[in-house]
Amino acid sequence: MVTTTLTKSPGEAAVTLRKGGLVAFPTETVYGLGADAFQPTAVRRIFEAKARPADNPLIVHLHARAQIELVAARLPPVAERLLEQFWPGPLTLILPKHPDLPGIVTAGLDTVGVRMPRLVLTRRFLKACDTPVPAPSANRSGRPSPTNWEAVEADLGGRIDCILKGGRTEAGVESTVVDCTVSPIEVLRPGAISVEDLRAAVDTVQVPVADQADTPRSPGTRHRHYAPAAEVRLVDAPADAMPGAGHAYIGLDAPSTPDAFGAVYVEADLVAYAHDLFYLFRACDDAGIEVIFAQTVPSAGLGRALNDRLRRAAAR
Ligand code: AMP
Ligand code: MG
Repeated sequence: MVTTTLTKSPGEAAVTLRKGGLVAFPTETVYGLGADAFQPTAVRRIFEAKARPADNPLIVHLHARAQIELVAARLPPVAERLLEQFWPGPLTLILPKHPDLPGIVTAGLDTVGVRMPRLVLTRRFLKACDTPVPAPSANRSGRPSPTNWEAVEADLGGRIDCILKGGRTEAGVESTVVDCTVSPIEVLRPGAISVEDLRAAVDTVQVPVADQADTPRSPGTRHRHYAPAAEVRLVDAPADAMPGAGHAYIGLDAPSTPDAFGAVYVEADLVAYAHDLFYLFRACDDAGIEVIFAQTVPSAGLGRALNDRLRRAAAR
């Protein structure tokens, strides 16, 4: 057990990280769990604290473009075009790895995922760290990603050194991961930036169909993810959800008999649904819900990322 300090000071959190500590911090997507990229012993502790499979690479968080050359061997022109348009923001670019970046960060791959977060508190923290910060989501492996600091504390309290306290995260789903080492570029994980937005920025973007999405090039997508303790069942419409005291319903359309469920959450739109999903998964667990009926959404825009998270949460 280690003592987990809570702080609102990005400077204090950065000092802990520079000393080899593990620091959870908010971003505009979900909370991340970071260490200094160039202290392999510290990076190893990320995997231990999360019980994360060793073959799942970490996304490296940067505060300045100049840091790219510390972790990547080169920047393909298409990646440069994407980062000019979407950074800072929830877009992760897969680039050729720099030989000096410790292999544990990329789980032995010769590519590295990099992103520059947009949230001001994150940017202050990363600037104070003054080193690239590899950080997966700050949850125990397999659990829903944390969208507030309380969820980080529930999963990782006593296992990490510090939590930088911010508010609830804005997007609620993770960054979009795009492989820029292949031509045309390919979406490895749908996320907060939509495929439509990417296609408006570059001519050709490949998106593997769902069944083939478990490409070995994004090892993390192979593992079970985002699951609450409750069983998640996907429904097309609220009428397909089975009422019951231990049953919850989450979706865009309202069920006709809300009182027959233990909990009902009707979301105003896709943005609200994505913002709330992981938070509600955890709320359902806290309330002792046994089965969550979650409505799938049209697979366009943010709906693609939302359906991806729903499918993975429902996979047994
Ligand atoms: P998370 O664990 O939530 O931070 O998710 C990180 C995601 O980014 C996982 O799906 C990883 O497989 C993916 N990822 C990170 N680095 C790479 C890389 N070098 N190549 C392919 N996918 C990566
Ligand atoms: Mg994760």
